[in-house]
Amino acid sequence: MNELSTVTADSAWEECLDIIKDNISYQKYKSWFEPITPIKLENNTLTIEVPSQFWYEWLEEHYYSMLRSTLAKILGEDVKLEYSVVLEQSGTNDEGSSVRLPQRPMPPEENGQKSVNGQGSTSYHPGQIENPFVIPGIQKTKVDPNLNNNYVFERFVEGDCNRLARSAAIAISENPGENSFNPFFVYGGTGLGKTHLIQSIGNKIKQQFSDQKSVLYKSSESFTNEFVHAIRNNRASEFSMFYRNIDVLIIDDIQFFSGKEKTQEEFFHIFNSLHQDGKQIILSSDRAPKDVPDIEERLISRFAWGLSADLQIPEYETRYAILERKANDNGIDLDPKIIEFIAHNFKSNIRDLEGAVIKLLATASLKGSEEIDLSLAKNILKDMVKDTHTQLSIESIQDYVCEYFGINTNKVREKTRKQEIVEARQIAMYLAKQYTESSLKTIGLHFGGRDHSTVIHAISTVEERLNTNEKYRRILNELEQKIEVASI
Ligand code: ADP
Ligand code: MG
Repeated sequence: MNELSTVTADSAWEECLDIIKDNISYQKYKSWFEPITPIKLENNTLTIEVPSQFWYEWLEEHYYSMLRSTLAKILGEDVKLEYSVVLEQSGTNDEGSSVRLPQRPMPPEENGQKSVNGQGSTSYHPGQIENPFVIPGIQKTKVDPNLNNNYVFERFVEGDCNRLARSAAIAISENPGENSFNPFFVYGGTGLGKTHLIQSIGNKIKQQFSDQKSVLYKSSESFTNEFVHAIRNNRASEFSMFYRNIDVLIIDDIQFFSGKEKTQEEFFHIFNSLHQDGKQIILSSDRAPKDVPDIEERLISRFAWGLSADLQIPEYETRYAILERKANDNGIDLDPKIIEFIAHNFKSNIRDLEGAVIKLLATASLKGSEEIDLSLAKNILKDMVKDTHTQLSIESIQDYVCEYFGINTNKVREKTRKQEIVEARQIAMYLAKQYTESSLKTIGLHFGGRDHSTVIHAISTVEERLNTNEKYRRILNELEQKIEVASI
């Protein structure tokens, strides 16, 4: 043991730091211990100055036993520790700007562990300290990740519309922070699966790393609200510190930051700090980074550091697969005809697809129907379909035909003279005449700007073949059936 009279606060704290350094990561040491200043050592009580109230709470919350045993080693078992907190809002920096916190007893090590269930910890938590960012009474601060357990990769159906975003998301979840997808920026229209996908990353990381990695999902709206609240309560630096300590930060719908300069600035600093520390940042937005209005240039440029991936409107096959999946998850077996019907009528987003399945289930069970058949389904979904799909359009007819023949829809709108495309194009023109009110001129315009005589020629060619070719007639029948199923 050192001869106490010759030990100063500085030298004692130096020795403590040497031990602490060996026990925690460099990053944590640098973040939490370097900024501490030893003030004095009197009556075997060491006083250290910490930058904020939050700092004090954080040390107590996380480093209590380490501090205890370290101090005991250097200054003896009956040592006491006292904190002095710099008052953040004070304009001056003199002695008066510190507040002394109640002296902290240092019980013997064997029962000095902070009690998890709160027993024996009365002297530990100054009751009046209320900290919204720390869950009290838990040894290792657990950050509630704020995730929905249903949003997992297993329930996220893969398709062309989401392939890149999905595989990047999986790669990130296996190696958070240590990949070149940092930040990972997912964008796309509403109801296309952004929230589901970015939460899946969080859930997977929680599954794999449990408490080793803190994950936090926040909508940008609640991030903003929390920040405003923190400022109002003079706790901005605690807010900042809390976010800088997260390992995987997921912020949804960052377009909400538009025009919110203060929030953007705060987020900018948090972003930098996390990125520098190799923490994973995941963001979503309803549009590409460069298209989000009223966001600072420096933030936009950072968004581009990692990977941006978009989610597109799902193609027919993916819509079909998602519907099958949703029906399955809800424990029902839907007739493929019904799935087809929904897949054809709900095109713009996945939330609507899901809504259709839920409505079917709800109404069918209310009516006590055991089986949902196509006509019941059509009936139930009538109103929803009307909203999104009032009349068969030339485009949707082109879609059906091309889907049937397995060709790219754009091809029938182009000038290609390839035989199979020419045939599909003629059939689509014929069906467009049959199922829409459009004039021959309008129909021609939809097929790469052809004139009405081309359309007349197409229609008569199809009619002639129908009269002479059995196979052709069957094809047309099947197509007509598909279109009729899809339209009500
Ligand atoms: P966004 O955040 O882009 O508005 P959401 O993530 O909220 O969209 O998705 C809307 C709904 O669609 C959610 O219920 C989600 O589970 C579902 N969903 C989205 N994409 C898929 C997918 N690829 N597979 C299965 N369900 C999906
Ligand atoms: Mg969302």
